[in-house]
Amino acid sequence: MDPTTAEVGGVKPSRLLAVGEVVEVQGSGKRPYRIKRTVKGHYTCTCSSFQNAQGASSVAARSCPHLAKILGKEYEAARQRAAGPTDATAPTYAESKRQKKEAAPFDWEEYVAARERVREEQQAGTSSSSGSSGSSSNRSMLGPKGTSLGEGYETDWRGNCTFNGRAIRKDFDPTSAIAIMQAEKWDTKLDPTGWWMSEKLDGVRAYWTGDRLVSRTNLDWKAPHWFIEKLPKGFALDGELWRERDGFEVLSGMCQRADTRAWSTINFFVFDAPDVEAPFEKRMEEARKRVPDGELTPDEALRGRFGGKVATLPFIACEGQAHLDRYVDAIMLQAGEGAMLRRRNSPYERRRSMHCRKVKRWDDGEGVMEGTNRGVGARSHRHESLRVRMASGKAVDIGMGMTESMHLGNDLPEKGVLVKYRCSGLFQDGTPRIPVYEGVCYDRTQPKDPEVAATQIRKKRKQDDEEFLKAVAADLEAAQLVPPWEV
Ligand SMILES: [Zn+2]
Repeated sequence: MDPTTAEVGGVKPSRLLAVGEVVEVQGSGKRPYRIKRTVKGHYTCTCSSFQNAQGASSVAARSCPHLAKILGKEYEAARQRAAGPTDATAPTYAESKRQKKEAAPFDWEEYVAARERVREEQQAGTSSSSGSSGSSSNRSMLGPKGTSLGEGYETDWRGNCTFNGRAIRKDFDPTSAIAIMQAEKWDTKLDPTGWWMSEKLDGVRAYWTGDRLVSRTNLDWKAPHWFIEKLPKGFALDGELWRERDGFEVLSGMCQRADTRAWSTINFFVFDAPDVEAPFEKRMEEARKRVPDGELTPDEALRGRFGGKVATLPFIACEGQAHLDRYVDAIMLQAGEGAMLRRRNSPYERRRSMHCRKVKRWDDGEGVMEGTNRGVGARSHRHESLRVRMASGKAVDIGMGMTESMHLGNDLPEKGVLVKYRCSGLFQDGTPRIPVYEGVCYDRTQPKDPEVAATQIRKKRKQDDEEFLKAVAADLEAAQLVPPWEV
């Protein structure tokens, strides 16, 4: 583009915009769209058809009806020719902007400043208007250690809990459950460079409140005295009780019993210090100072046959997608579950958080045990598979993962208990592919179906299509509504 005339390939724009100049164009909505000539030598528009156009690799190649209206159709065609072929698989402009923002380290200073602003506004609000019933702050809703769950949390009359208007969980019971950070699925389109990686341990989640070691449903794990005494008094820790890879079933049962020999094989791997008001790195530093057994990798714990340890989990700085792939591959080869990613500088959020992500190669779910399926003929004495009821109401038969003893009718989960299984995605009808029995699940009360990337992508794609069609319809409508004296 010629910097003074803005000519592209010998074609001049119908209207010459200065660099940085913004022109408003009335579209179908209340607010006009804003067109801008950028310093980099291209144009942008705030309309959704520009933002969602394919080919983020080259913003120069984007156009929309509003740019065509102001700059001329010939000029827009020349600009697109000059930009060359676009990459149809590249993310949209809006999407690539979002991805970059989400992958970058968390802005802790801005976060603290924003919270301070909210606090000031709330104080100003409460001092001027006394007895307003509108803001139902959760004074009664207590987190661990009897502290309030903090600003932004609300419960409605049904007891459903939200954070800044976003639902936390349908079955969230603020009076009994402990609000802990839960991992969101990793978005494979994000660049993992600079995120912190650790192994995702297939144990049970444990939260040390400062004086109790509890599950996410606030049930006490039956740790013996000597184990509890290793934990720092008055200092909250979040982590996982873990014994070995692919050992969920044995571990899950052990944590239910105050068996000191069993607990001497269990380790508590700490991955956060929720009550420290600081970014992730600083919280881990504080946790490391207080745990008795320092930092320990799962492999070190296995190699040394360590048990009964309270240690922090090491985090490795990810160098990029290839590094993450190698890391997860190595864990999968050892029958591990996958990896966790933590965003740099991020806060501890007491909900499902975008700053805490899981990378897994298979999915898991929990269903209600209903009974067993017997073999036929000579095999009629055998329990071939477990009949499990999913949250969706569908039934699934799980034979893989059962021990020989279970097939013969011993150690079968009781009817009505929650069992955990893993699978490799879901069929189109919503039943799990290749389900494998993992064990009885004690720290949950409701069945939960696997969340599969494909279903989420399908849902997102449908939503994107609808938004795109809406944007196109709006633009068409706007084009027809141009009054004749303006043409
Ligand atoms: Zn536009």
